[in-house]
Amino acid sequence: MSQDAVIDVINVSKHFGGLAAVNNCSLSVRRGSVTGLIGPNGAGKSTLFNMVAGNIVPDEGQVIFDGQDVTGLAPHQLFRLGMLRTFQIAHEFSNMTALENLMMVPGDQPGESLANVWFRPFLARSRETAVRKKALDVIDFLKLGHVRNELAGNLSGGQKKLLELGRTMMVDAKVVLLDEVAAGVNKTLLNDLAANIERMNRELGYTFFVIEHDMDLIARLCDPVIVMAEGRKIAEGSMEEVRANPEIVEAYFGA
Ligand code: ADP
Ligand code: MG
Repeated sequence: MSQDAVIDVINVSKHFGGLAAVNNCSLSVRRGSVTGLIGPNGAGKSTLFNMVAGNIVPDEGQVIFDGQDVTGLAPHQLFRLGMLRTFQIAHEFSNMTALENLMMVPGDQPGESLANVWFRPFLARSRETAVRKKALDVIDFLKLGHVRNELAGNLSGGQKKLLELGRTMMVDAKVVLLDEVAAGVNKTLLNDLAANIERMNRELGYTFFVIEHDMDLIARLCDPVIVMAEGRKIAEGSMEEVRANPEIVEAYFGA
């Protein structure tokens, strides 16, 4: 386990019937990095991601997050610890504005102490003000100020992705997991999305763990890139190093 890792996956396996989708796989995500996960179809990327995000429980091995064993914890428990996965804006939120969508993200709720019973109306109001201010900051950061009062359902595909990214900024996320965030986003907005991921990383210190098919996006954003094939990590390095490695080129294009 490395000192500066925020996620450590240790000897993790997951079988589906007789098939080892992930096979004794170990990898780390360094704190403060934008780490990419690539590999051919069927390599086990989504299964590995789902185990890190708490959607699938590993058969064997451990997932360590921020020094804590989180193997088998559910997504909402990981959410509380600061590991967030972007998720599509649910249908029922499409009739709320972009700003309201951000304000819906659960934050710290005041506890149920006796004092809170007395002060609850005041706390609720001050919390709403604070959440609204935070949401306005996030909207500005993402340069979505001009659409903040638009219904989320009327936003373009790329603007929705930005809003999904924005929701991760409403809580104190340590790590954001991005699962094919570029799919269906046009080039201009993809550029905005990439720029915002870079700014969140550099200016605000977010760590990202990214599965992505768009190799240009991976090359722009990710260092290091982890390559998976047949359920294991086969290489790790900068995109340039990975592209220059003949075994990797074979894993992708051979057979
Ligand atoms: P990748 O995301 O790299 O394309 P996956 O993790 O989706 O790879 O899949 C790895 C292997 O596990 C594939 O052979 C896939 O068919 C199999 N697999 C994934 N999920 C399931 C499942 N729920 N049931 C059965 N087999 C699965
Ligand atoms: Mg996949």
